[in-house]
Amino acid sequence: LDDRDGKIWMDGDLVEWREAKIHVLSHTLHYGCGAFEGVRAYKTDGGTAIFRLAEHTERLFNSAKILRMKIPFSPEQLNEAQKQVVRANKLESCYLRPLVWIGSEKLGVSPKGNRIHAMVAAWAWGAYLGDEGLKRGIRVKTSSYTRHHVNITMTQAKAVSNYSNSILANMEAVDDGYDEALLLDAAGFVSEGAGENIFVVKNGVVYTPDLSAGALNGITRNTILHICKDLGIEVVQKRITRDEVYIAEEAFFTGTAAEVTPIRELDRIEIGQGSRGPVTEKIQSAFFDIVNGRNPKYAHWLTKV
Ligand code: PMP
Repeated sequence: LDDRDGKIWMDGDLVEWREAKIHVLSHTLHYGCGAFEGVRAYKTDGGTAIFRLAEHTERLFNSAKILRMKIPFSPEQLNEAQKQVVRANKLESCYLRPLVWIGSEKLGVSPKGNRIHAMVAAWAWGAYLGDEGLKRGIRVKTSSYTRHHVNITMTQAKAVSNYSNSILANMEAVDDGYDEALLLDAAGFVSEGAGENIFVVKNGVVYTPDLSAGALNGITRNTILHICKDLGIEVVQKRITRDEVYIAEEAFFTGTAAEVTPIRELDRIEIGQGSRGPVTEKIQSAFFDIVNGRNPKYAHWLTKV
């Protein structure tokens, strides 16, 4: 990913892709205190547009606030930076990665006095869990790793360090032949995927864990809540057990990268018919209409680059 032509926005300037480097003594590299976003831009009839840019930038600033980091740029500057990188790299549709990190002035655990940096990169990235996964559903394993307790790391921050837990869970699941991991919270209730929120469907009602299960407040999750309202589907946020997922009619993951990906199996137990269910398909189709600019009601969620 590092050896290619293109531009990356770094601390206020567009720099050559290959030159977008940091020092090995950067504080974040050693201790993992940093925050990031994952954002997507889609090709629409009106041109390329970033989906829910304002909400992603707001979450980035909230993550930084939780981590006691003061970003030396305004939300407007970071919004502009994101539009700029999509244009500069001539991308029609892409994934964007804004990141804020702590510099290399000194390396004690306390980062006080170190400079805070920011970057935004963008590149083409197809279906995170595969095109087949979007259509047929994926196979998931309940992780042997527990999701973060809400007072160990801060689960409402999209913090760099939170992802060591996601990486362990994902690697274990993939090594065991599954597509993705499902993590339970410290009390044993369903929390989220390694990089996705989870929803289940039972008797036509859609359920998702409430955020006290340590799940990230996903922007796609929020989009699904709007879609269900529009479709007249009841949504309940509550504690969910893993066996409720086994006996659900349908289940799906959501995320900026994962979009809306059906789950066809958990722990080798088929969910419903073991394929994408009708409610999931309806929600998925409404989601792609919105992000691709085919639903005028949500035109305000699309920022033209
Ligand atoms: N949970 C985790 C752990 C994630 O990494 C993501 C992806 N950002 C999500 C949930 C979904 O969040 P969003 O829909 O905002 O991308």
